[in-house]
Amino acid sequence: MKIINNPKAMQAFSQNQRRQGKTIGFVPTMGALHEGHLSLIRQARQENDIVIVSIFVNPAQFGPKEDLRKYPRNLRRDAKMCAKLGVDIIFNPDSKPMYPQNYKTYVAVEDLSWVLCGKFRPGHFRGVATVVTKLFNIVSPDVSYFGQKDAQQAIIIKKMVEDLDIPVRIEVMPTVRAEDGLALSSRNTYLNEAERRDALVLSQALHIAEDLAQAGVRDSAKIIRCIKGCVRKRKTARLEYASIIDLDDLTPVKAITEPCLLALAVWIGKTRLIDNTIIRP
Ligand code: AMP
Repeated sequence: MKIINNPKAMQAFSQNQRRQGKTIGFVPTMGALHEGHLSLIRQARQENDIVIVSIFVNPAQFGPKEDLRKYPRNLRRDAKMCAKLGVDIIFNPDSKPMYPQNYKTYVAVEDLSWVLCGKFRPGHFRGVATVVTKLFNIVSPDVSYFGQKDAQQAIIIKKMVEDLDIPVRIEVMPTVRAEDGLALSSRNTYLNEAERRDALVLSQALHIAEDLAQAGVRDSAKIIRCIKGCVRKRKTARLEYASIIDLDDLTPVKAITEPCLLALAVWIGKTRLIDNTIIRP
């Protein structure tokens, strides 16, 4: 396994592989790898000749008051995990060559980027869409793997690829959870013991909602009221949003008559966690 830092060197490597007829599977990450990331890497390994994992904490997707500087970084540990899974290349660029001082170009996926997380993190998805476009141009993957854990992100990337005719297939893999149900996230390392317990409220609230829908409750407002009650019981938890939305265009769904997305963001102390499920009537 090789670590490449320079975007031009990465691009040259990928183009050379493509010329040889090799298929490239690509997993973009911000590092601090856990089983969620590894599930994407395993899938990529199964389906492609070459597997490239990018590790880049993208400044363009963090707001001015967000956790860019304290975001967990551990390249040595990440590299060991990648090597074990048979990754060919880790692409680990610095911010400077990705965003030089005169950088001017951003990609915005309209409407889908303004709702849910986008409403509370203005500019976040513009940063995500921009970096993913750049990474696709540098890595030229045949297939790129994303997690359902970040459902809105996956929907936005799919739309971007469709609208901009980017020649890559997007595969979305299921959310990997801890045994007790908490969705794995690099940000879980911020939680203390009490917060870790309270963080279970996310997956519990999703379960309650799934059960209500299964039991025949169609009214989204009623389900969201139950979620609010559930989160309120936890001392360190504060609900940022809970929304039931259309799976394609993320518009609010009033009555659950077909599968739709239930997405939520909850602050646990000073840590913001997200989770989601597909609700079926
Ligand atoms: P991140 O490093 O947080 O930017 O995540 C990189 C990729 O891993 C994204 O496509 C995420 O959706 C995915 N991912 C993160 N956590 C999980 C998880 N628990 N299960 C599945 N995929 C995940």
